Amino acid sequence: MRVTVLIAWLLALVMSVVRADEPALEVSEVEPENRLHRVTWTDAKSETRTVAGRVLLKAQDGGLLLESRDGRLWNVTPKQLQKDETTDELFQPLKAQELGEQLSREVAELGIKTPTQIVVTKRYVICSTAGRKYAEWCGSLFERLHDAFQAYWKAAGLELREPEFPLPAIVLKDHAQFTEFAAKHDRPDAAQSQGYFSEPTNRIILFDLTAGPNSASAQTTADIQKKITSSPFNVATTIHEATHQVAFNSGLHTRYADNPRWLTEGMAMFFEVPDLESRSGWKSIGRVNAPRRKDFRETTRSPREAVPLVELIRADDVFLKERKTRAAYAESWALTFYLLKTRREDVVSYLKTIQKKPRLIADSPDARLREFEEVFGETETLEREWKKWMSTH
Ligand SMILES: [Zn+2]
Repeated sequence: MRVTVLIAWLLALVMSVVRADEPALEVSEVEPENRLHRVTWTDAKSETRTVAGRVLLKAQDGGLLLESRDGRLWNVTPKQLQKDETTDELFQPLKAQELGEQLSREVAELGIKTPTQIVVTKRYVICSTAGRKYAEWCGSLFERLHDAFQAYWKAAGLELREPEFPLPAIVLKDHAQFTEFAAKHDRPDAAQSQGYFSEPTNRIILFDLTAGPNSASAQTTADIQKKITSSPFNVATTIHEATHQVAFNSGLHTRYADNPRWLTEGMAMFFEVPDLESRSGWKSIGRVNAPRRKDFRETTRSPREAVPLVELIRADDVFLKERKTRAAYAESWALTFYLLKTRREDVVSYLKTIQKKPRLIADSPDARLREFEEVFGETETLEREWKKWMSTH
């Protein structure tokens, strides 16, 4: 969940350069034929790096947004750029096994000594220090979530695409190792979370929820199931982060585009309600998210915490204000829940607008509000109807 703090920071940094309502740097899609480039630059640590990938955007000033074969995004400024060679090869995502090997190297390079195991499922590559059984359990959970997510949107009239890249997940053996890894892989505040989706690297980073401080890791699937069921709120974090990853890889959202935060978080919370019993599908999609509803009811009664709807829609900064974070998440869930239950066609139409957002261009708060109100009507009226409806659901 907190990853988005990190993402917001990164986006704020990147987007401070380009805002839609200011004279923008011109960027263009330059590689319709998907050509592989080999780009060399000096990174923030003054090290020279060469990465093969496709160029998603080229700014007029020469800066690049590069996507490497593992699905990672690299923002190269003109000052950092040394060389951009176009090769004769076509860009292709890494194969699952290659991606697995790369993830293992990354884990080892960040000082994690525990040997890794790679579990490959239809769409996921899980690199785990938590044992094969737990990684397999995660793989099965992710696949079911993926199918349920796709089926939900298909039924709603929104065609999504299959992920282009194998979806990477790193599952560490316990919270201590997760903290160690996350602080180096991303930023120290990522380490304070219970798991996160990293928008720049496309990875989800998680840890074994069955590994308590005094207990051995679960050894069998039944054991895992039993331990997980006793703490459903923890597993919600795992599903929440996996939902972010599916949403960004199926075309519901675009990485580095200006997706409203209430929407990305609202979607993840709409799907996060655990459904561990159903082997074949995810029957519980759209069930009330009880912990979020409790937060919603408490925070809307507290003037110190509550966030007016108009503020939630206009900008993402309420998520970063300590006193407002709980309300921002709870309201995002409640709004998404209400809109999907009562105005699903409008949500689909709004999503189609959001899907078209270009990367690295930020909308102004007024533009965000205008787009929202064009579909859902005037915010004050909506807020009254929404809160009335929520009081009975
Ligand atoms: Zn989240």
